[in-house]
Order: sequence, then structure tokens, then C-alpha cells
Amino acid sequence: MLSTGFFPTEDELAAETISHGALKSEDEHRRDICTAGRWIYERGYVASTDGNVSLRLDPRRILTSPTGISKGMMTPDDLVITDLQGTKLSGRRNPSSELAMHLLIYRRRPDVNSVCHAHPPVATGYAAAGIPLNKALLAELVLSLGCVPVARYGTPGTPELTEALEPLVQSADSILMANHGVVTAGPDLLTAFFRMETTEHFARVALVTELLGKQVLLSSGDVEKLLAARARYGAQTSSVKSAECPVTSDAEETERITLTRRELESLVEEAVQKDRARR
Ligand SMILES: [Zn+2]
Repeated sequence: MLSTGFFPTEDELAAETISHGALKSEDEHRRDICTAGRWIYERGYVASTDGNVSLRLDPRRILTSPTGISKGMMTPDDLVITDLQGTKLSGRRNPSSELAMHLLIYRRRPDVNSVCHAHPPVATGYAAAGIPLNKALLAELVLSLGCVPVARYGTPGTPELTEALEPLVQSADSILMANHGVVTAGPDLLTAFFRMETTEHFARVALVTELLGKQVLLSSGDVEKLLAARARYGAQTSSVKSAECPVTSDAEETERITLTRRELESLVEEAVQKDRARR
């Protein structure tokens, strides 16, 4: 049905909305992946034909975006169905070579029903710099994602990439992939997409604090209070947390050392002497 111009039709509204939940018809899942693809593309999280989105249709089948097409221009019949080993079961297009990382996550995380992979520029900048997003800078982030670690570099489309992610997939819902991008996982597509959006948003805020030259972190007491209140936040809270994450102000405090000018000068002098002696 065509829009009257003033109010969107039901079809137009549905095309721009994704509801939470993994129990949907295959048609709904196909439409949701196309909508998420458009959001990822329109927000500048990918360029050209980069990125991929998938979800678990049932215990044995994965529905995924295809290779070689802009994620902003997909239609439901462009999508591909594979098994958990990546063998194509149906679809006129082919799955991405990056599907292997999605399959790794599905195999290791029965709680995950959807995976998003993109190259959002600020978070990918952190990934390229090898800097994890692991500081307790924002209260909501402590609750939603906890920490975003960096996986070591692995050549895209090869087993190196999945090997690099393997140690982190159990303990993180969002992972920076060194010199590459970001992968997020969730119990449904909307959560996996939100985790991508949250990761990029957090990276932007972290970058601003770096530009300002000052970061005031939450204390471990603040973080404990947040985690105690976590139950109230229900489904929006990440299912995984680790003891060393996030880095708090007191953890930073133990890392900080104080030197007098004279002590600093003598350390520099000592290093210079050692360097000269080596030449
Ligand atoms: Zn990629």
C-alpha cells in the first residue's frame, strides 16, 4: 500500500522496526535482518559491501546476509540459509567468508541467537590501535556491556580470524577485532544490533575524554553498587562479566607512581647511559 504522505503505512512502519525476541517466523527474521542491515549502513558502521548480520533460525540453521551486496540494500530474498558448519542450504546468493566467526559464536554460546559484524569507525580505530574499551567511564556501559576486549589480528576469511576470537567469545558480548572491526552477539537480533551501536557510542565518548586529556573513572565501590542494582535492569544487561573488568579508578590508582623531578632526571640519565654503553 502506498503512503498517503502524512502517516506511514503499516508496511513502512514494520520495515523500520525490529522487535525484541528470537521466536519469529522466517519471513519476520528475513525482514529484521534487512532492517538491521539498513541501520548499520545508514549509521556509517560499514562502507561498500562490508559487514554481515546473522541469526539462528532453529538449532541447525543460520539465516545470514550474503556476500557482495551493500547491507543497506538487501531484500529478504537476498539472504542465505546455512547449517552450523557454513554449508549453504538455500538462497541464490552466497554467504560471506566472515560467516565462520558467526558460526564459532553460535557453537560456543547457546544463549546467542544473533551476531552482527561491522566496521564502525571510532570503535574500529580503537581496534586498530589495540586499545580495549575496558574502563569504567560510563555507568550504563558497566551494566550493558561491561568491557569490550581486543582480539588479536587474524586474516579475514581464514581460520586465523576465528582462532583469534576463540578465547574471548565466552566472556564478551562485544569484541574489537584488531586491524579490522567489531563483532557483537545477543539473545536476539535487536540486542546484537544495540550492542554494536553501544560499542561505537562508548568508543566516541572514550575518544572525547582522550581528546580532553582527562578521564575520571568510577571507583570499584561505584561499580559494585551498579552490579548490585543490575537485576532491576533485566534483559538489557549483559550476560557475561569478568572479575578484572571494567578498570576502575582504584585499579588505576595502584598503577600510578609518583616521582620527584630529581628521581625522574636520574632515571632518564641512567637509561641514556645504558643506551650509550650498548652502542
Ligand atoms: Zn569485516
